[in-house]
Amino acid sequence: GASIQLENLTKRYPGNPSPSVDSVSMEIKAGETVIFVGPSGCGKSTTLKMINRLIEPTSGRIRINDEDVTDIDPVKLRRKVGYAIQSSGLFPHMTVAENIALVPKMVGWSKAKVKDRVEEMLDLVGLDPREFHGRYPRQLSGGQQQRVGVARALAADPPVLLMDEPFGAVDPITRDHLQDELIRLQHELHKTIVFVTHDFDEAIKLGDRIAVLRERSHIAQFDTPEAILTN
Ligand code: ADP
Ligand code: ADP
Repeated sequence: GASIQLENLTKRYPGNPSPSVDSVSMEIKAGETVIFVGPSGCGKSTTLKMINRLIEPTSGRIRINDEDVTDIDPVKLRRKVGYAIQSSGLFPHMTVAENIALVPKMVGWSKAKVKDRVEEMLDLVGLDPREFHGRYPRQLSGGQQQRVGVARALAADPPVLLMDEPFGAVDPITRDHLQDELIRLQHELHKTIVFVTHDFDEAIKLGDRIAVLRERSHIAQFDTPEAILTN
């Protein structure tokens, strides 16, 4: 795993009267799973996107293992931080296999290793590689697209996973399976995971700590599930 530090992190989108994320500081330990819960529009996605530099903070800083993310080479950052989102974010002109292979190829894995890894990842998310590897995203249901999105996020074995409602469209049985796989990744591979969900049961099941966020990502509570349930 890798630790993540947010220091006075602020994002003000051009034209918005108030910042979407306002001076947030938080320390996420290596190997820890932190769940963000909070109302729609409170800045959860914005915070995640700043961690992997899809958007730049207005001020403040982010460090992964004490290294400022602005100092990390962009390809290295893709290798370090996997990202899965609600809308899957798959590239429509690429097949399932090509989508999953993207980051492993980018970081220079051999063809054979990439091919094996694509199969392994499809198995992990419960999609038969023979049936799905050559399909295009439009040929998948919403839940299947999300599962491929999760497979893509995990493909290069990143120490950090950012997951923004990754199982929202997945059917309940598969969701249970994916949650269990995620717990396995926590325990066996010590991934550091930041996970956004609206599902409180999911938060309790997966989180080492839960960050309850209010407007502008103000942290109302940041504690273990046990402590949050008893408060
Ligand atoms: P959440 O993920 O908690 O639903 P977001 O991070 O998506 O919240 O959004 C936080 C706030 O920032 C919202 O008020 C939203 O309207 C605003 N916002 C998000 N993205 C943009 C953008 N690209 N331009 C302007 N405002 C944005
Ligand atoms: P869900 O019940 O999850 O919404 P759908 O009804 O969208 O699923 O799809 C059911 C099945 O049909 C899935 O296996 C999906 O992969 C397949 N499917 C959906 N759309 C297409 C398409 N355009 N081409 C090929 N297969 C498709």
